[in-house]
Amino acid sequence: MAITDARLQAAEHLKAYPGHAFCDGCLADKLGLGVREVRHARIGLAGSDEFEQQQGFCSVCLEVKHVIHVAWLHFEAPNDDEHRAFEA
Ligand SMILES: [Zn+2]
Repeated sequence: MAITDARLQAAEHLKAYPGHAFCDGCLADKLGLGVREVRHARIGLAGSDEFEQQQGFCSVCLEVKHVIHVAWLHFEAPNDDEHRAFEA
């Protein structure tokens, strides 16, 4: 399978689960692709504004790994109380 196809599939999956982060292994499992393909796709996607990669908890295996996710939304925090609720 072409790398671009893997990238499209990965992008589609990540967008279907905003707020979830996936490591290469779990993403490969979900998509039925090889880890190598997914790793290449991740590196490609991480270069866009739409996605972010970081060291953190994978939402699937719950291990701290190199994960990718849809870029977290950064609000202007119009309501302070609501903002604090998320920090608890
Ligand atoms: Zn994982």
